[in-house]
Amino acid sequence: MSILEIKLPIHETFQSTVQGEGYWSGTLVDFIRLSGCPVGCPWCDTGYADGGKNLPRVERPIDELLGELKSPRVVISGGEPFIQKHLPELVQALLDAGKKVHIETSGSFWQEVSPEAWITLSPKQHINPKYPVQPQFWSRSNEVKIVIETGREIELYKEHLSAHPDLYVYLQPEWNRWSKSLSLILQMLQEKPDYKLSLQTHKYIGVQ
Ligand code: SF4
Repeated sequence: MSILEIKLPIHETFQSTVQGEGYWSGTLVDFIRLSGCPVGCPWCDTGYADGGKNLPRVERPIDELLGELKSPRVVISGGEPFIQKHLPELVQALLDAGKKVHIETSGSFWQEVSPEAWITLSPKQHINPKYPVQPQFWSRSNEVKIVIETGREIELYKEHLSAHPDLYVYLQPEWNRWSKSLSLILQMLQEKPDYKLSLQTHKYIGVQ
């Protein structure tokens, strides 16, 4: 079977939007959302808080996914992309097609993907200790994005963050408690001036 015939379970795809969060915020991107995530964050904005049994899951071949792309950059998101055994092939096929590839992950499941892929680690171990960050992600990731709800989230990760000073660290308000979270982040930035605020800009401008 050719790499282009491999199928992956797709939650949804959309094209010609902007990356709303983190380092590449404001950049034109296409999204491929892979289906499924077991982590169960209560505020999951993709619908996987309760496992997502009724959410979309359509098996689609890689060549069909490539055919609908419009932007130079593609964000593979979820769900949790790293639970999909064919994630490495999808990444490679996108790179072979001349795309820049970004992957967003909770870091709970590890597998090797091309070193050319940009990895955004958004750890959820503080929410569900059953899904700790796999240690490889701390050195492999390019940026860390932590959703702030209580202000205590970074405690669990501070040794890893100190050990990897080149990581870009973004603190992002939990959307449903935006005002409280934002003021917590402004306090946290005073202690950690190298960290940055990440806003979900796509929600402010009304795009996916
Ligand atoms: S890890 Fe991400 S996709 Fe999974 S439940 Fe949490 S927010 Fe949703």
